[in-house]
Amino acid sequence: MFRLSRSLWVPFLLNCIKVIVSTLGGIFTGSLALIADGLDSFGNVISSFFTAFFVKKAIEPPDEEHPYGHVRFEALSAIITFSYMLSMLIILVHTFIERWISGKLFSISEGAPVFALISLTSNIMALWFYKRSGHSGLAVKTEELHIVSDIFEGSAVFVGVLLASMFSPIWDLIAMCIVIFFMGWASVKSFIEIKNSVTDVSPGSDYIRMVNHIVNSVEGVKEVHKIRARKIGEKIFLDLHVLVDPSMSVKRAHDIADEVLRRIKLELPGTEDVVVHIEPYYEGSGWYLILV
Ligand SMILES: [Zn+2]
Ligand SMILES: [Zn+2]
Repeated sequence: MFRLSRSLWVPFLLNCIKVIVSTLGGIFTGSLALIADGLDSFGNVISSFFTAFFVKKAIEPPDEEHPYGHVRFEALSAIITFSYMLSMLIILVHTFIERWISGKLFSISEGAPVFALISLTSNIMALWFYKRSGHSGLAVKTEELHIVSDIFEGSAVFVGVLLASMFSPIWDLIAMCIVIFFMGWASVKSFIEIKNSVTDVSPGSDYIRMVNHIVNSVEGVKEVHKIRARKIGEKIFLDLHVLVDPSMSVKRAHDIADEVLRRIKLELPGTEDVVVHIEPYYEGSGWYLILV
């Protein structure tokens, strides 16, 4: 289905193993921290799976059903992950409060630290494979940071269940609380990702300044205004008005529009689409600009 390299498949499979070990281990030993860690990791599995699926969909060329392309499909994986994480958070926070208030703490069996250690080891191995793959780029860096934060989380769970099996089950609840914190943080991050993808956020004033500079340097351009740009995922969609000599031929004006498009795509990679609106420029008629 997906043509992912082996170096990316291995961390994914290790994550699946972690989900099974933590969740089943938590159920068998009565550790809520382990169950929470397993449910959190299942969120990572969902995220990796749907990201791989929708990133492939997002680069498909425009078609009849989606004439503007498929870029926004990328947001779907974040929406699915966010929905899952939010549901799990509600269940876990509810369970945590219930246990805390009732004060009914169930002792957890001695096997729990073993499950926690296996699950932590699979995270460390995932990081090792990921680093060894030699991939670079922003997405890989983000994923690497993600695995590192999973290792911190797994370490907290291991220490928590170890203390819980030796002293008091309260340590299991404390470790569970740490997992809830990590899940909350991940949910906020995927919410921001969704927000940026669906609200047409600007790529920033630096980008607009560069567009202004590039277009003004194209021969035949008298002025440029109404530069608008929006970011969807990592892609930028741009439209602008270019003012040219009113007596210019349509062919020449069209050549200028094409040159503007070529230069922007060349000098500002990440720009997916440029719409150029051509209009006549009248010398010293500032009032005219207000009307158009
Ligand atoms: Zn054309
Ligand atoms: Zn205009």
